[in-house]
Amino acid sequence: MAYLRGIMHCIGTGVVMSVMSYDAYKAAFLSWNSIVTEDPRRLRDPSKIVLAPDVIVALRVLQKYYKLFILAHQPSITVEVSDSAQIAHFHEDVLQRLAHYGVQVEQVISYVKNSLHPFIEVAEERRLDLPGSLCISDRSQDIKLAGQVGARGIYVMSRNSTQTCPDLPPDSLIVVDIWDAVLHAMEMHLIQHRQPALSDIERAAEILREGGIVAFPTETVYGLGANALDPMAVARVFEIKRRPRFDPLIVHVADPRQVNTLVSQLPGQAQKLINLFWPGPLTIVLPKSDRVPDIVTAGLSTVAIRMPDHPVALTLIRRSGVPIAAPSANLFGHVSPTMAEHVYHQLGDAVDLVLNGGRCPIGIESTVISVSDDEAVLLRLGGLPVEELERVIGPVQRHIRTQASPKSPGQLPHHYAPRTPLVLRDRNAPELTRRCGLLSFTEPTSAEGFVAVEVLSKSGDLREAAANLFVALHRLDSMQLELIVAELVPEVGLGQAINDRLRRAAHKGGIGSTGSREVSDESRA
Ligand code: AMP
Ligand code: MG
Repeated sequence: MAYLRGIMHCIGTGVVMSVMSYDAYKAAFLSWNSIVTEDPRRLRDPSKIVLAPDVIVALRVLQKYYKLFILAHQPSITVEVSDSAQIAHFHEDVLQRLAHYGVQVEQVISYVKNSLHPFIEVAEERRLDLPGSLCISDRSQDIKLAGQVGARGIYVMSRNSTQTCPDLPPDSLIVVDIWDAVLHAMEMHLIQHRQPALSDIERAAEILREGGIVAFPTETVYGLGANALDPMAVARVFEIKRRPRFDPLIVHVADPRQVNTLVSQLPGQAQKLINLFWPGPLTIVLPKSDRVPDIVTAGLSTVAIRMPDHPVALTLIRRSGVPIAAPSANLFGHVSPTMAEHVYHQLGDAVDLVLNGGRCPIGIESTVISVSDDEAVLLRLGGLPVEELERVIGPVQRHIRTQASPKSPGQLPHHYAPRTPLVLRDRNAPELTRRCGLLSFTEPTSAEGFVAVEVLSKSGDLREAAANLFVALHRLDSMQLELIVAELVPEVGLGQAINDRLRRAAHKGGIGSTGSREVSDESRA
């Protein structure tokens, strides 16, 4: 198989920025029935409305790129619930429940019959970019109205619909469900930002389908991906990384429904975490199904799964049509890559393709947690602070690693190390007669004796520090220093994950080899 090798040079940070924030003026108008399962005509009590978990996650993805508006077609709600105050109560209740899951709906637009008025009025009031906006609806009328004001229509075929091919404007898309609509919406967003081009993502997806290896951006770090259901492809990931076979991989999905085929059981607590934190930097370890090859899980009966929060990663997974097994795209034990250039320098030609999606916005690996009906165990500190998890599922056990029970075999003490020896800065200052670099949390009061200084966050912001950590380590590591002196950050929130990486990097003063060592008794997770 002759793949095009090499990196795609499309420099810029458009994608990264849009992952973090709303695209201010674009809207997604969603019909009520495209998000709520029940027919509201039959309901009097708003609590009877079921918000399906996968719809909640889909809306959380969509709102990263579009402001959300719900279109409530008046007649459908007023058949039995005639009082307008009661209708407002109905809407308010659903909006509040969505808000609990972090979904922010700007407004419910109630409208009567085929009026263009609501689109135009709301667009003016909110200064929306209608040509950049979308209408996702199971009513062909909505799609037509949206078309008349220049918005793109995505027609969702409803289960009850007898109209499989309604009369729609020519550029409308027809999809089977809200997920399909959201993934199309994300692709439209990618087309506008062109980093990387959609055609490059499609080529990468094809490589994955054919058993090849692709490095791709996620919100945490760059991943080295293979089709998780293809043992030969996964074996190549281990070879390229020089990763020991006892260290299992995380399987990446584009949609929570994909999880069902990969697990034998989904405990309620895990579903709760998915509903609130996916997509995002949270990996959940669950009992695996027979479909997952043993090489992925290093022979364990559990599989680690995550849904990344990055439009390139989600589009790639969806287009490949398979779950993607992906460890970080670096040599085993070394510093994780947060830029495409880092991947290229470490793995170069060994990878079939590197998709460049700019810098990873979170910049630190995912939090790993194993969840069963009666316990939740934290296996790795990461991009989602453990306090946030505990707010939802109560106290989480910290895993104490022992030789006898390596619950998370990848948790080696010397992980994340630069080649240059690294020590932690403490009261006993090291002898600075050599070429030393300083890795400092905020601006240091004195940098005397250091030939290079990297500051993680001038304002002392832990999020910014996490995003800069691996970039700073890569930079110091490329300067032919003899020693890196690193300062620990405050041990709260993301600071715990940052310090975990620094302590491991400092284990035995940093490592130069990539060889595997025994799992030690030491636990930092
Ligand atoms: P990486 O792919 O390098 O980000 O590391 C993945 C982390 O998830 C490693 O620490 C693995 O040990 C851990 N992990 C993956 N699968 C499992 C599993 N089935 N049980 C416990 N930990 C896992
Ligand atoms: Mg890794």
